[in-house]
Amino acid sequence: MTTFDHDLFVIGGGSGGVRAARVAAQTGARVALAEESRYGGTCVIRGCVPKKLMVFASEFPALMAQARDYGWAVTDGALDWSAFRARLDGELDRLEGVYRGILRNNGVTMFDQRATLVDPHTVELADGQRVTAAHILIATGGRPVRPDIPGAELGMLSDDIFRMDQLPGSVLILGGGYIACEFACILNGLGVATTLYYRGAQVLRGFDDEARGLVADEMEQSGIAMHMGTNILSLERDGAGIRVTATNGDERHFDAVLFATGRAPNTAELGLDALGVTLKRGGAIAVDDYSQTAVPSIFAVGDVTDRVNLTPVAIREGMAFVETVFKGNPTKPDHALIPTAVFTQPEMGSVGLSEEAARDHGPIEVYATSFRPMRTSFIGRPTRVLMKLIVCADTRRVLGCHIVAPNAGEMIQLAGIAVKMGATKEQFDATCAVHPTMAEELVTMAKPVRTA
Ligand code: NDP
Repeated sequence: MTTFDHDLFVIGGGSGGVRAARVAAQTGARVALAEESRYGGTCVIRGCVPKKLMVFASEFPALMAQARDYGWAVTDGALDWSAFRARLDGELDRLEGVYRGILRNNGVTMFDQRATLVDPHTVELADGQRVTAAHILIATGGRPVRPDIPGAELGMLSDDIFRMDQLPGSVLILGGGYIACEFACILNGLGVATTLYYRGAQVLRGFDDEARGLVADEMEQSGIAMHMGTNILSLERDGAGIRVTATNGDERHFDAVLFATGRAPNTAELGLDALGVTLKRGGAIAVDDYSQTAVPSIFAVGDVTDRVNLTPVAIREGMAFVETVFKGNPTKPDHALIPTAVFTQPEMGSVGLSEEAARDHGPIEVYATSFRPMRTSFIGRPTRVLMKLIVCADTRRVLGCHIVAPNAGEMIQLAGIAVKMGATKEQFDATCAVHPTMAEELVTMAKPVRTA
């Protein structure tokens, strides 16, 4: 019988890789993990965590303005970006330590270097050392990409935002996805004059039209200059800033440009082609329902497989892999009805089908209400929120729930349980309202606004 150095070798110390390594080690497996950058990966170091902390930081000016209108004596002050950055860096160091600790405490051997594949059971580390394992799990994630336009090297990527020495006076953000919209709100909140160019007709393509329309309106209302149907033709250095030529003929100066034009899987130069691991269009690793690649000993989870690119999904894919391979319990990660939130201001929370997608699935009823919430209508703000349910007219099941409101991310986590359980509109209605809240509207909408 062949003996290997390890039962499992994980390449990549992000959310999916660390979870799989820990849970596999807890079954008694001998596990090793290689990470060439920082432990914690995109979510902890360059994504969700620092982003959310920046969301919190950026919300204070609006909150202070609200406090003033509520009667508090509040004087304006500027953000000390260096003080915030120092605290942010400290927090990321702490979290990286936590991730290392998880691996160490579970007996996982760590290699702080890049690993590439040599054969179906062997990886080679950057220092030339070769290590064998019965199974290899690729969890190398993805990275933000620059569009192919002249001068693209002058723009920042989302990774760079967390490392800025100072805030720019003005920024142009290109893109209309999660990252573009979230950072537009963050930078606008932090006092940066923010412009967003998006090539399509409306940002957040794929989400419910009414919900993304309201997010876009609120972004515009909060001072972000939103230009739809607009792309960048070229960038040129212009003093300390950048001159941008747009497809609409505009030539404008910005202190900084941020590309939020999507992410690509980290599969280059891993040695995958030579081994026969199949890649999809765009370079993501093709896997079956159990996260197994075309090479039986090699599995892949998370963004590198480009299924649903969200941290909790990568974690669940990692856990399902361990159930399947190390616990003898073949388990498919469940990709149905995944709730998600876009941390714009206001946030958008969504689970299930949009109204547009649901129309293709037979007769539906649409329940929706948009209103000025108590907290800000009291002080005369025009801000609106949206609570929306898409209901199957035949089964009465709630097929989709879409919320645009402060803390919609928290709300959709809870509404997501009911939708995942297959709750009907009548079961929503049988739930007593919590008054006065915004979310109570989800259980009090008596009549559909539309049927289709
Ligand atoms: P997305 O794929 O969501 O959006 C990319 C955007 O860039 C789209 O609006 C796209 O337009 C546009 N675009 C793509 N190529 C070009 C180009 N060449 N020129 C101009 N525009 C272009 O990517 P993101 O980078 O925003 O986010 C990546 C993923 O990360 C998300 O899909 C999500 O899975 C995850 N994420 C999740 C978050 C959360 O859970 N809150 C937060 C941040 C990221 P078009 O619509 O026309 O294709």
